[in-house]
Amino acid sequence: MQFCPTCEVRLKKSEANSVLNCPKCGYTENEAKTQKKVEETTKPDLNVLDESDGKETLPTIQIECGKCGHNQAVWWMLQTRSADEPTTQFYRCIKCSYTWRNYA
Ligand SMILES: [Zn+2]
Ligand SMILES: [Zn+2]
Repeated sequence: MQFCPTCEVRLKKSEANSVLNCPKCGYTENEAKTQKKVEETTKPDLNVLDESDGKETLPTIQIECGKCGHNQAVWWMLQTRSADEPTTQFYRCIKCSYTWRNYA
């Protein structure tokens, strides 16, 4: 809750442009600048399993690597951020660590 610095009246929020407005003297304050840190950080979903992870407890599958042609890869499932999207299956070649996903 914010107050006008001159007349100490509670500022009213204007829905249209997220500006706080004093109904008495017309003072305005931009609300957007105070909310900057709320922005979400986007993370690339292919980096979830990193080489530095160390623990290779993932199941393996017979599948051909699209990069080096090796026929064994580990796989895991990952739910993307929006809940209405289907779960994506990821593969990673155990030889060259090439990672790809399966949309099927
Ligand atoms: Zn005021
Ligand atoms: Zn490979």
